[in-house]
Amino acid sequence: MFEGSDLSVLDFQAMSDEGLIDALRTAHGASAAAQAAEVFAVRELYRRHRAASAEPGPGGVRAGEFAATEAAVALQVDEGSVAAMIDVGLALEDWLPRTRAEFAAGRIDVAKVRVIVDNTRAVARDVLGELEPRLLETAGRTTPVRLRQAARRWVARLDPVGAQRRRERRQDDRDVRIRAVQDSMAVFDGVLPAPGAQTVAMRLREMSLQVCAADPRTMPQRRADALVALADGSGRLRCACGRGARCPKGEVAGAAPRRPLIQIGIPADTLLGMREAPAFLAGYGPIDAALARILAEDARFQVIPERSAADDPAADDPVARSPLLDREVRALDGMCRFPGCTMPAAESVLAQRQSASRAEATVLCPRHHRLKTLSDNRKVPWETWLADPDRLQWTAPTGDIHTTAREGARYLFPHKDIDVPAGLNENPPQTEPAIDLPDDLAYPFRGHALVNRQLCRIAPEDEIPDDATTPAINPA
Ligand SMILES: [Zn+2]
Ligand SMILES: [Zn+2]
Repeated sequence: MFEGSDLSVLDFQAMSDEGLIDALRTAHGASAAAQAAEVFAVRELYRRHRAASAEPGPGGVRAGEFAATEAAVALQVDEGSVAAMIDVGLALEDWLPRTRAEFAAGRIDVAKVRVIVDNTRAVARDVLGELEPRLLETAGRTTPVRLRQAARRWVARLDPVGAQRRRERRQDDRDVRIRAVQDSMAVFDGVLPAPGAQTVAMRLREMSLQVCAADPRTMPQRRADALVALADGSGRLRCACGRGARCPKGEVAGAAPRRPLIQIGIPADTLLGMREAPAFLAGYGPIDAALARILAEDARFQVIPERSAADDPAADDPVARSPLLDREVRALDGMCRFPGCTMPAAESVLAQRQSASRAEATVLCPRHHRLKTLSDNRKVPWETWLADPDRLQWTAPTGDIHTTAREGARYLFPHKDIDVPAGLNENPPQTEPAIDLPDDLAYPFRGHALVNRQLCRIAPEDEIPDDATTPAINPA
């Protein structure tokens, strides 16, 4: 009914209920068709990059590896989501021609397309001719969750001998990752082969019972603490009953935890409790001052002086003119200086560059350090320019310019943070973590397991650094 009409000028208040439902369907179809157009466009960009940029060997450009980067900065979306879009586009082209056509016409949305891609990736090709039309027919009259259930049932029925192949393919998708949510919490998420997951679960349970019955923590809380204890090197839960020598489990002490696995930037006056400015947890984003002070109790400190005259190359002060120490650069940058990248500085490498006034280092994660090195060597058509220490400019191949600032410095020296609305500087601001959304609503690709292995290094956290550039875990 509204086919071809401009949805933005419809008068919803004047419509009947039937008219509204009709408009809803039309709008959903239009947004599905638009999603399809995005997937096909980015897939085509990837095809061109692949054709143009193959240069195997160390120091060369891996075919197509920065197509996602270009699309990501243009759309202001993360590179992992773009990699997933390319992956879906390739899958539709490779083995799902009917699904591709339905998606292009807006008759099936991206959520259902993902279900179909995911459930047909390890199915024998001769079964697909029967399976795909059935899935599409069902997709038209059910939700993505029910479609997934139906798909699993039919795959098992139509391709029973493929069960082992599907399991082996699925094991390739094993993964553990975290994502920041609000209030200084993060979701720790993963997909493991069942025996491995069970091993972790049983170990956490065993550790949860290392404390006495008077420990005030619930079992879920103990499991969570046990997981961190596994990682920090202490290897066991310390009882929190507070009974000291009378605790029956008190005498068993674990190893001391390894400390600086995390880095936090905190202003000196906030550390001393004179102010409540937020601190910066590298890889996460802002945390509140009280939490930062608790973490600081066991911390190793590095003092980062504020170099007020550093912007003035003619300054007399020798401290202001001396180049920044590596640890200062890491603390001031806080995280990778590529637009939108949230890789923490400790996991990144320092790249030297010539600024207007002097040589200056910036922090880049291994993936974007690769991009910078390749662009310095004129192997990819990107350009970088350090206008001043706080403005690192990236020029994309299309000519679009993106600038990043020193994120860590905003937290260390809050009085210099000119982007903060007036009045927020003195109080804990309403800041959100750098990577706070559980999913990007416009690009719902989180958790998509890549079918095409060549795309698996595009998300910055998934880049495997060259041996020469592997950063030290604990930069001194
Ligand atoms: Zn106890
Ligand atoms: Zn990066």
